[in-house]
Amino acid sequence: MKCIKCGRDTFLSRNTEAIENGCLLVIRHIPCYECSECAEMLYTDDVAWQLEQLTDRAKRMVQEFAVVDYTKVM
Ligand SMILES: [Zn+2]
Repeated sequence: MKCIKCGRDTFLSRNTEAIENGCLLVIRHIPCYECSECAEMLYTDDVAWQLEQLTDRAKRMVQEFAVVDYTKVM
């Protein structure tokens, strides 16, 4: 996978994402591709879709704040 910003090679990594969506959801250990040049994080379509599902579910269940581990909820 190439970086969408600078076109350099990316390597497989893990990312933590904080999403504010009525509540605050922190998702840890998300598989991603990290650019070796500009540190841009890229998600595959699959992971991006899963994140959307997770955020959606959290909106209904979480009132304030939650931390989830991607590797444990998938
Ligand atoms: Zn880049």
